[in-house]
Amino acid sequence: MQEALNLAREAAFLGEVPVGALMVQTSSNLLIAKAYNQSIAHHDPSAHAEILALRTAGKALQNYRLVDTTLYVTLEPCMMCVGALIHARVTRVVFGALDPKSGALGSCADLSKAPWVNHRLEVQGGVLEPECRAMLQTFFRKRR
Ligand SMILES: [Zn+2]
Repeated sequence: MQEALNLAREAAFLGEVPVGALMVQTSSNLLIAKAYNQSIAHHDPSAHAEILALRTAGKALQNYRLVDTTLYVTLEPCMMCVGALIHARVTRVVFGALDPKSGALGSCADLSKAPWVNHRLEVQGGVLEPECRAMLQTFFRKRR
């Protein structure tokens, strides 16, 4: 999560909402993807850190199913990202700060528990939560 925070810091430096993500192959603990939000730079509303990490991980594993992977992300994923994580069959999601405005793993909804979902994500939130929250608060305070 510390490394995900470093990635979020890079996003903030570029004026992007500071969210960082990385993926590891769970069994080998091998790092397979690093990403941060790049929606503004890419002119792409789907360029959230999680989506970019999934794309890199898919290429790394040469597979669209990312079984045996863990995603670490500094902010609770939104519904788009949780949808993509489920499609990808990611095993485990570990996040930092809660997102009361659009978090889809407990805050606004919990898509990991939706009865119609055919893949169960293991979810752990609140890891380095104060640091992750402070990163976003500092960024938005500066922008106002
Ligand atoms: Zn998202």
